[in-house]
Amino acid sequence: MNYIEQMFDLQRQLNDHTNGVMWVDGITKENRKISWYRCIYMEAAEAIDSFNWKHWKSINTDPDWANIRVELVDIWHFIMSESIRIKDENYANKYLKLKPQGNFNAVVLIDTLEKMLSLSVASNIDPKINNIRDITDLFFTAILQVDMGIGELYKRYVVKNQLNTFRQQHGYKDGSYIKLWDRVEDNVVAFKIMDENPSISPSGLYQKLELKYAQIS
Ligand code: MG
Ligand code: MG
Repeated sequence: MNYIEQMFDLQRQLNDHTNGVMWVDGITKENRKISWYRCIYMEAAEAIDSFNWKHWKSINTDPDWANIRVELVDIWHFIMSESIRIKDENYANKYLKLKPQGNFNAVVLIDTLEKMLSLSVASNIDPKINNIRDITDLFFTAILQVDMGIGELYKRYVVKNQLNTFRQQHGYKDGSYIKLWDRVEDNVVAFKIMDENPSISPSGLYQKLELKYAQIS
């Protein structure tokens, strides 16, 4: 499996696990309606909110690029989910070779996010409209504006996906999970493992997390 296929596979597993396998019919095991398009436009708004867009407040503050990357990875979860739901997960494969180009372009990024937001709202209002392909194209334009290519997207997605699973398996819901591993936050540990082992598999990462978590004092 290539990077894109692996991410789709992990997303399907996460959704099966979190919502039950009926999620592809638009409903969770708790009988809650799923609106992936709403998820997309709310995350797009969070990304836009990481810019100092208010003309009356903190007008010289730099964009929070680190948080923008986090929100983009959040958006990616939901684009994949909707693509799987309509059985169109192969469309994104054309971006497999996408490379970062050293760009940080706030103007292009906000414009791209607003188009994504608007297409998602349109699709959410009218179920006959499905804009997921155009939204996918806009998404890959967006990540290029924060110097991300497929390699970086994959790394960030896998870390978030495996850490979400790991936390759930180690008492996150009942509050017994320890987030600081000898004074280092768990996601920092996970990124370090990925950086030191660039070709590690998601399950390989999970195993290393198990080892490190068992060693904390
Ligand atoms: Mg946020
Ligand atoms: Mg978010």
